[in-house]
Order: sequence, then structure tokens, then C-alpha cells
Amino acid sequence: MENLEFLSEYYTLLKEKKEEGKKVIAFISHDNIPEELIDAAGFIPLRLIFAGNDELMDASHDFLPPSTCSFAQSCIGAFSIKPDNLKVLDLIDYIIISNHCVSDICASEIISKYYDIPQLKFYVSYTKTENSLKYFKLELNDLREKLEELKGSVIETQDLMNSIVKYNNFKKKISDLSKLAIPGAQKLKHFQRALLIGPYYLPELESFLQTQEETQINEKSKPIFLTGCSIFINDYLNDLIEGGGGNIVFFDTWVGFNYYSQIFDGDSINSSIDPIDLLVERFKKNIFGDHSVPNFLETKISQIEEFYKNYKNTSGKKVGVINHIIKFCDHMSIMSSHLKKQLQEKGIQVLNLERDYSRANKGQLSTRIEAFLEMM
Ligand code: SF4
Repeated sequence: MENLEFLSEYYTLLKEKKEEGKKVIAFISHDNIPEELIDAAGFIPLRLIFAGNDELMDASHDFLPPSTCSFAQSCIGAFSIKPDNLKVLDLIDYIIISNHCVSDICASEIISKYYDIPQLKFYVSYTKTENSLKYFKLELNDLREKLEELKGSVIETQDLMNSIVKYNNFKKKISDLSKLAIPGAQKLKHFQRALLIGPYYLPELESFLQTQEETQINEKSKPIFLTGCSIFINDYLNDLIEGGGGNIVFFDTWVGFNYYSQIFDGDSINSSIDPIDLLVERFKKNIFGDHSVPNFLETKISQIEEFYKNYKNTSGKKVGVINHIIKFCDHMSIMSSHLKKQLQEKGIQVLNLERDYSRANKGQLSTRIEAFLEMM
């Protein structure tokens, strides 16, 4: 399992920042939360991405039934247990309530109410019509005003633009990392830390990019395209995949591609567009997220097919697809059989891997993954 020492280092860093007067704003929403606005206000965005074991999952059952998605359960459980390595949760000043999905709203509301964390609301349209974009802009401006109230002064437009540039450059580095031919475990470790720690993680990321050598993948490993739900900090799923002889070559999840692909090109950043409009434009172009984007299934299938063909052309190897479905995640489970059927018709092998975080299922999961890799 992963060494979680970095969590206590991050705790120390956040504590120092809080002593300087910064506030910590947490959220469990998957994407579309404008962390640049939070940063421009002088605050620190904190993604809740801790899930992967029974303890956190089971500790939520005083609040929600076990038929809630295991990730949302774990988010609540993290506040309920507050394990030593998650002391960072004690530093949260506000939590954003957003509507990525029903489980997300319920878990955020419960955390706010029962763990006494004041909330900021930020709702995201489920469609991409002209009116939805106007609505998204209203929400952005509303969040900006709330942050300004907390800050006690306005968020200057130039400060917001600076934050957009800062996060944009950070995502470009994460994108550089994604292209390296290194074991999936290493990429995942940096993706998770980058999403948790944000641009404070840039020096470590850059140092890794400069020093690592691209020779560490076992040639015999089977390449895997991971889609569906993310793998969170301290989850064992990647260990099972690598232990079975696989290697994730592409993380098509929001801890991965969905995050680092949302980059502005230089022209839009250098133009005189209002930075709030830039954020609206990014929302409009976010076609790979699972927040009820029109034609999600078709887009996903084309994306996977294109990756499959390119990978085969350049490496001569066929990629297998693991569609990771956290139990009771409607967003991912609802289309899983269509995704599998349509990809299989194109000759692409798919494993729909539905699971929760219980240790008892580990053996069974491992067997399914090994059988899939064997079949590949
Ligand atoms: S894993 Fe799925 S159900 Fe759970 S919070 Fe995320 S999108 Fe919602």
C-alpha cells in the first residue's frame, strides 16, 4: 500500500497557510468546481479524495444506507473517524455543496451539518444549452461574491486571471506526466497528490519529470485503459491490476485525464476575455466529464476507440478497458452494459468492474482482474 507520509507534510503546510490567514475550502465534487476562484480569493481549495478501505466506508452508516455510493460513504466516514493521517480535515473552514450527483450532495450536506462546517453552494447545470451556460455564469458570480464576503475585499480580475494561468500551467505539467512510459502506479500517485495539494505540488512534480527514466515498465505487462470511477488515495485497486500483470497506461477518470485535459490555449489566456467567461467556456468544452453531458456515451466510445487504435499503431499491443464502477455510482453503472457491448463490437475487450471497498471482496476482484488480463 501507499506511503501516506505526504498527508502529514500537507497538514503542516496547510496549517502554516492558515496561520497566514488563508481559509481552506473543501469539496467532494468531481469537476467543474472553479478552484481558480478560490485561489484568487487567497484561499486553498481542498478536494476530498480519500476512499479505498472498509473503515471509512462503514463509518458512514449512521447517516446514509449502505446503498449509497461507496466513495460518498467514505467521504462521510473520513469525518466520522478522522484517522491520524487525515488530520488535514480539521483545518477545513468551509465546504462547497455542489450537485455532481445525488450522493455528492447528500454527503456534502451531511458533512456540513453534522461536522459543523459552514457551506457555500455552487450548483452546476446538467445541460449545455445557452441558458445553462448563463446559469453557470450566474453561479460563478454568486460564488465569487460569497468568497469576497469571506475575504473582506473584492477578487481582482487580474488576480483571477493569474490563478487561471497558474492552474493552467500546473495542468500542463500533469499532462506531461501522463505521457511518460512509466508504471501506472507512479502516474496515479502523482495525479492523486497533484489534485489534493494543487500547485504547491508543482516543484515535486517538476523534479520527478526531470529526473525519472522512462524504462521501468515490465514489457510483458498488459496495457489497460482505465475508465469510469477514479482510484482515490489509499485504494488498493491499482495494486491488484499490477499484481495481476496489468499496467494502466491511461487514466480516463477525473483523477487523471478529465482534470488535466481542461487546459486553456495560450490565445484565450492572452486575450481580453473576462476570466469568468473563460471558466464558462471551459465548462462548455468539458465533454469528457460524467455530469450529464449530452452524448456522453458516444463521446466516450469514440475517445476509447481512438486511443485503442493509436496505441496499437504505435506499440503493436492491444489495450484492454477496465470500466471501474464504484458500487451504487449511478453515473457509471447506468451506461456500463452499453459501453461494453459497443466497444466489444469494435473488437475492444472490456471488463466492467463493479466493487465497493470491502476487504472481503478483494480476492474475488483479484480473480476477475487476473482472468481478464489472461484473456487479453
Ligand atoms: S462515485 Fe459516482 S455516485 Fe459516487 S459521488 Fe462520484 S459520481 Fe457520485
